Amino acid sequence: MKIAVLPGDGIGPEIIAEAVRVLRALDERFEIEFADVGGAAYERHGHPLPEATLKLARGADAVLFGAVGDFKYDGLERALRPEQAILGLRKSLGLFANLRPAILYPELASASTLKPEVVSGLDILIVRELTGDIYFGTPRGRRSAPDGAFAGQPEAFDTMRYARPEIERIARVAFEAARRRSGKVTSVDKANVLETFQFWKDVVTEVHAGYPDVQLEHMYVDNAAMQLVRSPKSFDVIVTGNMFGDILSDEAAMLTGSIGMLPSASLNERSQGLYEPSHGSAPDIAGKGLANPLATILSAAMMLRHSLDRAQQADRIEAAVKKVLAAGLRTADIVAGGARAVGTGEMGAAVVAALG
Ligand code: NAD
Repeated sequence: MKIAVLPGDGIGPEIIAEAVRVLRALDERFEIEFADVGGAAYERHGHPLPEATLKLARGADAVLFGAVGDFKYDGLERALRPEQAILGLRKSLGLFANLRPAILYPELASASTLKPEVVSGLDILIVRELTGDIYFGTPRGRRSAPDGAFAGQPEAFDTMRYARPEIERIARVAFEAARRRSGKVTSVDKANVLETFQFWKDVVTEVHAGYPDVQLEHMYVDNAAMQLVRSPKSFDVIVTGNMFGDILSDEAAMLTGSIGMLPSASLNERSQGLYEPSHGSAPDIAGKGLANPLATILSAAMMLRHSLDRAQQADRIEAAVKKVLAAGLRTADIVAGGARAVGTGEMGAAVVAALG
């Protein structure tokens, strides 16, 4: 089992170090190889996604990714910005399905900005299509132009587009996931205004015919955004396009109180996957040992389950995380007023100790 580990920028190296420590503590040997990505790769190799990194990722069973980006790269032309590395990896590995669970651990109910009775026990899964929609539409305008290139231009545009097979395969991922959970899928669209999303709705409905045991409901994205804060527990699996999924998954993340807790998986049709925390590189706390490593550790657990066929090891890690939370350990982002927060390394060590 070969794992490509790409720490990246900001807190990336710190949180990845803890996830790798947890992986190495399992009684299994994985081949773990590191490579540069993002701003760190741009500094060393002149490109955020060097060919050697891409080659390593393509040849691995799974990629464990930290985070990329720093505001100091905002002036670079778009193709050289750190965030382009993620888009490049998604495209090159064909990672079309982004799975983002939003789980509220009972111990963290007070971290949510919503009332405990609205969110306690929350366990939803957002399935976001990742390689189509307006983010990959044609024509792509002047994406590669540096900032300021639009000065004086009369307009700019992006094209929203979905092909039937792209919708079919993401719908199947959602229905399969719902079968393993409580059996309900909410497909989120904007069919009342956009042709692309009337098409989406029709194709999802067609695919649903093959999953009579799963309940399907359709919801407009504006209503879904509202329902997510009104009664989030009414959802089980949400499936949606790239842009709506981008926005709704961040909204769902915040319901749980801390983005530092949430893992994600991006899978292709061969179950090869890229696993990363849902948050960014947090430059404001980078290098201070303050970052919460749990989202990355839980991403490693998702990797074991979805790409490496090691569900038992994944269960062990998830149980260990629950144990450390139950024991009261908190990093600064999830600590309740006045209590002592532990650092990144201390949290990682506690998870290792709790592996059992
Ligand atoms: P961010 O997620 O990095 O940070 C938002 C806030 O959450 C910050 O206050 C940060 O300190 C906090 N935070 C994030 N992760 C945390 C953790 N593990 N523990 C504790 N606190 C944590 O988002 P941002 O500030 O908007 O973006 C910073 C950089 O990250 C930008 O360059 C952006 O482009 C990039 N980014 C990268 C990814 C990715 O690599 N997948 C995703 C989103 C943003």
